Amino acid sequence: MATDYDAPRKTEEEQSEDSIEELKARRHEKNSGKVDEDETEAAESFELPGADLSHEELAVQVVPKQLDEFTCSSCFLVHHRSQLASEKNGTFICRDCAY
Ligand SMILES: [Zn+2]
Repeated sequence: MATDYDAPRKTEEEQSEDSIEELKARRHEKNSGKVDEDETEAAESFELPGADLSHEELAVQVVPKQLDEFTCSSCFLVHHRSQLASEKNGTFICRDCAY
């Protein structure tokens, strides 16, 4: 009889514990799922304008030449004016290409 008492007790406890754990897990899943959705939505809404801005900044930094810089028409590299060897008809030749 003792074993009969013990057996249902243990299973009952295990079952109740399992159900509580299940409830906790379900609540946690629900809560974490909601938080994740909010976070991803917020991140997306923040990322889109931020990415656009970063692209614009990159283009601005790369495209325009500084007044004291020139693009060599031979190697197509941007050099400082101090590296300018010759200038003919708007074409610039750097010292590396001049020699
Ligand atoms: Zn050059």
